[in-house]
Amino acid sequence: MAYKCTTCDNFHEDLPDIGIDRPDQWWDVAEEERDRRIELTSDTCIIDDEFYFIRGVIEIPVHGEAEPFGFGVWVSQKRENFENYVVHFDSAEIGPFFGWLCTRLACYADETMHLKTFAYFRGNGLRPLIKLEPTDHPLAIDQREGISLQRAWDIVHHYMPEPSQDPDTRVDHDANQ
Ligand SMILES: [Zn+2]
Repeated sequence: MAYKCTTCDNFHEDLPDIGIDRPDQWWDVAEEERDRRIELTSDTCIIDDEFYFIRGVIEIPVHGEAEPFGFGVWVSQKRENFENYVVHFDSAEIGPFFGWLCTRLACYADETMHLKTFAYFRGNGLRPLIKLEPTDHPLAIDQREGISLQRAWDIVHHYMPEPSQDPDTRVDHDANQ
């Protein structure tokens, strides 16, 4: 069902998830050294054979919507748990494993790097579910209590200034005048 967005004044259809394709630590490595020091896939990252990261999803309930909003983020893992995940990729029989959040979500004024999380492995082709420690951090509160649909679209706009619109519901401001 089309939703009239108060931020951009357009109608939106399905709420997209937002995914970050690498841990923030990737940017800390000098550009000319990245090929040598970093192994990055769509789901895992290793830096210097010493730091291990996996990609998962923070799901945030959206008030009045059946589907949650998904944030694709990265968390660190200790080597043993990382290797367990790689060996048992797509298994729901491992974990949950502790990790530090390694994605800075700029749509939150409070720093999100290094929040404590647990990764819950789901199998079925789904990335691990990342659950934040239940603190008073706004992101942790949002994961517990959910957000409005407008807040979810505001977050999407933060990452995608012009999300695709359904041409049938696009508002033509000129024609309405
Ligand atoms: Zn909008």
